[in-house]
Amino acid sequence: MSTHTITMNQKEIQALKTKLKSAKVCKTPPYALFQVKTEDCTITAYASGKVVFQGEGADFYAGATQVKSKSNITYPECGSDEVGTGDYFGPVVVCAACVESKHLPLLKELKIQDSKQIQDEQIQQIAPLLMEQLTYSLLVLENAKYNEVHLHNNMNAIKAKLHNQAFLHLKNKLDFVCDHIIIDQFTPEKTYYRYLKEEADIVQSIHFETKAENKYLSVACASIIARYHFLEAIEQLSTQYDFPFPKGAGAHVDEAGVDFVNQYSFDTLSKVCKFHFKNTDKIKALLEMA
Ligand code: MN
Repeated sequence: MSTHTITMNQKEIQALKTKLKSAKVCKTPPYALFQVKTEDCTITAYASGKVVFQGEGADFYAGATQVKSKSNITYPECGSDEVGTGDYFGPVVVCAACVESKHLPLLKELKIQDSKQIQDEQIQQIAPLLMEQLTYSLLVLENAKYNEVHLHNNMNAIKAKLHNQAFLHLKNKLDFVCDHIIIDQFTPEKTYYRYLKEEADIVQSIHFETKAENKYLSVACASIIARYHFLEAIEQLSTQYDFPFPKGAGAHVDEAGVDFVNQYSFDTLSKVCKFHFKNTDKIKALLEMA
């Protein structure tokens, strides 16, 4: 049982009320504007602007509704994140997902707000449930294509174009307009749009924030779905080449790279890795030493 008190302005309280419209309405206590009850949380908004969350679900509901850097969090909320940009082997995967208020109970049950702490095994259980319920769009940039594109684009330019594409696809899939769009920030806003200046269609009015996967459910969900597909891609590559590709970009990856080249060839390496990573030079050096 826990209690959270958050101060909100009138507009935010109204937005909260709308968001909680499926909750049971209680008799309004003295000095309160309204009180509603979900299965595990009682939420009371006072005329003073104080909003009290009480019960098992208080952490979740306060977290999900809390006013963060973005002053008006409302659902539906669209968010995007990418996976694989720090991994030598395997593709870059970008996902954009939309969370609607009807999804909040499921996301609470799945404890989605702690996305950083979710282990790979849990990702494999949770992601399919999210993919079943949420509208999302996914882009997988395979290594061969990535290496080709990287000749003319840096990593952040590639990311910007993928995020933009993912949001365009997501917008097409939704049958409503969602104007709360959040990116887990990887580059300054101005630079992001500069990377997109040649694109035919550009999604505007995006909110940029770092560590957004811990603050916004849509970004957390996008991150989980992207991670799921990255893990699948690594597994598929491992089956295809009968070779256990490690994640990350550390020394263990260099060693695996050497083993891989010995088993296949240096040319084949560019089909399974991000060739411009420093690992490639280290692998070359290790091969020459041998
Ligand atoms: Mn990210």
